[in-house]
Amino acid sequence: MDNVREQIEFDVLFVGAGPASLAGAIHLMKLAKSQNIDLEVALIEKGADIGSHTVSGAVLNPIALKELIPDYREAGCPIEADVRRDEFYFLTSTRHYRAPFVPKYMHNRGSHIISLSKFVSWLGDIAEGLGVNIFPGFAGKEVLFGPDDRTVIGVRTGDKGVDKDNVPKANFEAGIDILAKVTVFGEGPRGSLQEAISKKLRIFEGKMQQVFETGIKEVIQLPDTNYFSDSLGNDIHTFGYPLGLNTHGGGFIYEMKDNRAALGLIVGLSYQDPMLDLYEEFIRFKRHPFISEVIKGGRVMEQGARTIVSGGYYTIPKLAVGGGLFIGSSASMLNAPALKGIHTSMKSGMLAAETIMEAFAKGRFTQETLNYGHRLEASWLKKELYIGRNFAQAVSKKGLAKFLHIGVQYLTGGRGIFDKMPMREDAKSLTPLTRVYSPHVRLYEKQAYDGILYVDKLTGVYLSKTRHREDQPCHLIVHDLDLCVNTCFETYQCPCTRFCPANVYELDIDEKSRERKLKLNPANCLHCKTCEIKDPYGNITWTCPEGGDGPGYTIV
Ligand code: SF4
Repeated sequence: MDNVREQIEFDVLFVGAGPASLAGAIHLMKLAKSQNIDLEVALIEKGADIGSHTVSGAVLNPIALKELIPDYREAGCPIEADVRRDEFYFLTSTRHYRAPFVPKYMHNRGSHIISLSKFVSWLGDIAEGLGVNIFPGFAGKEVLFGPDDRTVIGVRTGDKGVDKDNVPKANFEAGIDILAKVTVFGEGPRGSLQEAISKKLRIFEGKMQQVFETGIKEVIQLPDTNYFSDSLGNDIHTFGYPLGLNTHGGGFIYEMKDNRAALGLIVGLSYQDPMLDLYEEFIRFKRHPFISEVIKGGRVMEQGARTIVSGGYYTIPKLAVGGGLFIGSSASMLNAPALKGIHTSMKSGMLAAETIMEAFAKGRFTQETLNYGHRLEASWLKKELYIGRNFAQAVSKKGLAKFLHIGVQYLTGGRGIFDKMPMREDAKSLTPLTRVYSPHVRLYEKQAYDGILYVDKLTGVYLSKTRHREDQPCHLIVHDLDLCVNTCFETYQCPCTRFCPANVYELDIDEKSRERKLKLNPANCLHCKTCEIKDPYGNITWTCPEGGDGPGYTIV
């Protein structure tokens, strides 16, 4: 196949069309034009369209957007609503209590509620208008290195039209080698190309372990008269039920235009209970009396899931290698206490763009010339990330200890009781079932789904518009199936069947022989990467399926 592989060359290649890459590409083109420099810039995206793989809360702090596109409203930025007032509630199983105050880092007045999918689609049009060559439907499959085997020289996109056994079919299209002087990786959380670079060039050496949360989100069409018509608050956050105080995470509901609401539950993947089922928790959240009152009479329009990199400042990897840079979620650019990563990701892309311009002026694309760490340190981005440097560790503490740490961090500008609080890898946090006192083993009541406002996992997958060509190599590699059905079953009862929000992993137990089999439904995959992160044995590797496959988000 290699001898027919086409090569295309650009000056700069962005991988992934999230807010980081698009802000970076727009800023780069504007800087180049202002300096009369001709740059050939490309951007590849594995989703079928720009925005089709993008899901987030999403409340946008416009600080970076104002720097990038000062007249963004006039330029048609798709804003669903301006935040009028924040509301913060503690939920018990039946009641809700309004918090006496909203922590200052969660003040969102002046921010905008957006659909991230629509927002990046709008940014994509602007980037294209500035001359960026945008290629949706192209999955970066392999990092290309130069003769020294250390300098990134581009990315190979995935082949299309191979069957399950990797045999080319009649419609086979070989992937393309996209070569660039600079490749910018903005793949989002747990990028697979970044993982490959990390194995070779150890970009996380000396850094704290990245940790993650998984969010499941829906957009709900509400009746004309709804909670937001009578309420001032349109930016609601909750904690407590259903996760309790020993599992970190919480819920949100935001007003969207046209009588819609965005609603979601975020669960920290440091959770310990192997029986916890992310989707069941999400439905329990929706059924809480307070939440169900807000969404009553509604209909789920779209559903999605993704992970969030929440470790913050101490988990930022080396920001550059020879020929390559890391931006956005890939580089831990999340303000965890504020629950926001869009503006921070955008700013990282913009700082990267300024550094790339400088590297072009010098004509050198080494780790030193591409490292934008000094710009980050001098910007507002550093201040935001640094304040939350121990936040993920604090919220992963159990019970009231969590509030003690958060309180002290609040008063000490993020330093807290220990600065550089240690953190455990998410994959290592599950407690073996043999060590859980049996009355404490979590059991879920069977849910009644109405298929309208409360939909089951498979309907949720349908509503995410996820599509994968069935006859292609499985993009989820389970390295040892025996380990799954023996050791993992006996220790944790196959938690992949519960942490995957899309029913990709199913355990079949033969009634007579009691033989166990793990069945995979990769066509359901929402590309959230939870399985690769949370699997306690590191037995699952997520790889990119054929370009253009996956979710088809339009409004989440
Ligand atoms: Fe997420 Fe993995 Fe399930 Fe796909 S298979 S939806 S990446 S947990």
